[in-house]
Amino acid sequence: MATPVRSATARNHTATHLLQSALRQVLGEHVKQAGSLVAPDRLRFDFSHFAAPTAEELRRVEDLVNTYVLENTQVNAREMETAEALKSGATALFGEKYGERVRVVQVGEVSTELCGGTHVRASGDIGLFKIVSETGIAAGVRRIEALTGLGALHYTQQLEDDQRRVATLVKAREAIPWKRSTGSWLGKKSCSERLRLSRPGSTPPPRWTCWPAPGRWPGSRCWR
Ligand SMILES: [Zn+2]
Repeated sequence: MATPVRSATARNHTATHLLQSALRQVLGEHVKQAGSLVAPDRLRFDFSHFAAPTAEELRRVEDLVNTYVLENTQVNAREMETAEALKSGATALFGEKYGERVRVVQVGEVSTELCGGTHVRASGDIGLFKIVSETGIAAGVRRIEALTGLGALHYTQQLEDDQRRVATLVKAREAIPWKRSTGSWLGKKSCSERLRLSRPGSTPPPRWTCWPAPGRWPGSRCWR
């Protein structure tokens, strides 16, 4: 019987296999698993790589995993001779001791790994896959943390809430000088532009008020 917690863990576990495959495709075949944690609410995957992946590479990895999910490929687990499994190219953990027979978990053409863990029935069960952090944890070892299913959805909803809050704050700040100012607006030219046109390198005349700061960035405005 699949409990919600067990299903959530299975989603994260299968997603870890897909993540490893996507990382190898985007960053290179040198990528090897260096550790992994599969919990009901998140997954963590450590892997060997010499540099921090760029934001663009991480996006490609995320896109690839979500593409595998959308393909809704069946996940198959079968037992076989260890030697046969390794010969077929199944990914094994470096330094791990395996018995005579092993369990091989295969997700279509995407991933074949020696694994005893619990998996979803088809990749589509994972739902949304979202990377939430990428850091270096040791020389040549990187760590990715990611979410799946409703956890990933709730994460993006949280970002949406944060964005709304920031937009409200920015709007409030922008409104301050115009509300407080009793003087007249100096025109459409930005503060920095006005300074450059009058006296290069000078500070604004004392009766000028500049906001957020004189010439700090092109958006600075001044009035008197
Ligand atoms: Zn596994």
